[in-house]
Parts: sequence; structure tokens; C-alpha cells
Amino acid sequence: MKLTKIQRAELKQKFGGHCAYCGELLGDKWHADHLIAVVRDIETGKPSKPENDVIENLVPACTACNHNKRSMSLEAWRDLLAHYRDVQVIRDCSQVRHLVRFGLVKFIQEPIVFYFEKMGIPQAILEAERHG
Ligand SMILES: [Zn+2]
Repeated sequence: MKLTKIQRAELKQKFGGHCAYCGELLGDKWHADHLIAVVRDIETGKPSKPENDVIENLVPACTACNHNKRSMSLEAWRDLLAHYRDVQVIRDCSQVRHLVRFGLVKFIQEPIVFYFEKMGIPQAILEAERHG
């Protein structure tokens, strides 16, 4: 959905100007992200779940989070982030393995909690995703 300038300004402040996912303070370049994905048809670009293309389902996101999340569900993305931490970085990045051996990098084994979960978001949205 196309937001007006005012709607976009209000959305940016939904979490005090922070990315809904990582909590980074948003600059001038940020995205209005569908919390529950609107999967688009590759050819037409039309959403296959138009019911999710509503302002209540939009959150402000930094470009890095928006690009990494793509059209994943929150739980799939959470699992992917844990995979980066628990498997992929150690397996694929020798520089990180060196830094870990020297005690210069430590991974925090805590649950991955999105910024909006810490700040609170209407439960109805999360319930809607769970029941898909
Ligand atoms: Zn972010």
C-alpha cells in the first residue's frame, strides 16, 4: 500500500524512530515493512495475501533488516538469525574462528528478541501470524 507523507512520518515513530526488528535508530533511508509478509506474485507484483497489505501490519525497518527478512515469517527469520550465530559464521568465516580462539569475539547464547517485542506490539498482529 502507498502511504501518505503523514502516514509514513507516523509509522517511522511507531517505535520511537527505531527499526522494529534490530532497534537501530532509523536515518533517512528506511522501509515500511509488512510484519506478516505480503507474498507477491513474481510476474504481476500483486500481493497473494492482500489482507496483510494494511497499515496495521506495517512496521518501520532499517534496510538491512528489511532485505534480510524478505518475505519470511518472524519465526523463520528468528531461526535464520540463530543459524547465522550458531552455525554459519563459525563454519564459514575463518577470521571469526581466529577471533573466537583468541577470546576477542564471543557469541551470546540468548533467545533472539526483536525490538518491537521488547517495546510491545498489539498481540492481535502476532496471533494473526501464528494462525496464519
Ligand atoms: Zn534493523
